Amino acid sequence: MDMNVIYLDTASSTPVAQEVIDVMLGYLGAGSCYYNPSSAGHILGQQAADSVLEAKSVIANLLGCHSDEVIFTSGATEANNLALRGIAYAHAATGRHLVTSLIEHKSVLETCHALEHKGFVVTYLKPNSHGRIDPETVQKALRPDTLMVSLQYINNETGVIQPIHEIAALLEDAGVLFHVDAAQAVGKFAIDLEKTPIDLLSLSAHKFYGPKGIGCLIIRNRRYLKLEPMLTGGGQEFGLRSGTLPTHQIHGLKAALALACNCQTKNYTHVCDLKRQFIEGLQQSLSIKIHGDVAHSSPYIVNFSVKGISTEALINQLSAAVALSSGSACSSGTIDPSYVLRAMGIEGEDLYGAVRASFSQYHQYSEISAAVRHIISAVQRMQELE
Ligand code: PMP
Repeated sequence: MDMNVIYLDTASSTPVAQEVIDVMLGYLGAGSCYYNPSSAGHILGQQAADSVLEAKSVIANLLGCHSDEVIFTSGATEANNLALRGIAYAHAATGRHLVTSLIEHKSVLETCHALEHKGFVVTYLKPNSHGRIDPETVQKALRPDTLMVSLQYINNETGVIQPIHEIAALLEDAGVLFHVDAAQAVGKFAIDLEKTPIDLLSLSAHKFYGPKGIGCLIIRNRRYLKLEPMLTGGGQEFGLRSGTLPTHQIHGLKAALALACNCQTKNYTHVCDLKRQFIEGLQQSLSIKIHGDVAHSSPYIVNFSVKGISTEALINQLSAAVALSSGSACSSGTIDPSYVLRAMGIEGEDLYGAVRASFSQYHQYSEISAAVRHIISAVQRMQELE
């Protein structure tokens, strides 16, 4: 592991914060509360079950929902699957139409494709050239048999913020369920489900300094909203997601979420400064193009291309100095151009040169200026070679 590499790939994963690790240790080893929360027959299992209820209560308070609306999953991929398949299969008798967009995470897109094979009909909305989904296009896509609309809050490649509040309001009026993949938003943006009529919300702890392998699906009004479970077995999580609850992960998620939400404004301000510093630093020496709506963009993510430089060349040149991402899948050593940028109508040099940098509250200004220097000199080296 090279500690000198400047890590600008926090949108893909973050390390577990030390205070979060400390909390997790209370549920891991011998002498800790490692017991099975389903072992209700003894006081130790009961302690573990109580601790899960406490974790749910903390999470619910931070997001503005009720404790029994928090369903733990292995992450946002599973939460997205449960939301889409769970609603589709449970309500197939009343409707077979779903709406999503072309720029969702693969865990939504591939699940929608699988549902199409099972006889459901999916409308894939096209974003505008800035990567935003217009609420009007959502309204127009609705049909009498539409079960649910599933959209992300923040795009993981471009950082573009979707108009979630407007869309939530129009779907509430239309009486259509709304699922939001908030994997890149939770802990970074204020989310109050008490005020925003979102029915289902997916999140993942490893995006906000919690452990990998844990997330949740928040299901508002769970008592009345039917979902078909994907995992059946011991009937944990109200029968919606069987499997022994991973208490250490759950407490890791809880602690990470509390840490992120409590410092949210401070973190946001700092990350805004970092992003500005990064962009201005590059612009001083390079001709760069920023992809996505700059007026509606998460400070945590920037997607850009440098004139005349390919994604692959830049990422490879920098691999030992700055960890950047193509934002899209990497298969057999070549980087596929981003389907998100393609859907926005970006093509040619801009598409094949797109690179994502993602920031965090833990980055120092000095790291950002060092990363900028590395990128500029890598580009200059490549230009000289040409
Ligand atoms: N949705 C979005 C928007 C994401 O960025 C990610 C992670 N890349 C996921 C879903 C999947 O999350 P997980 O890694 O927890 O499965």
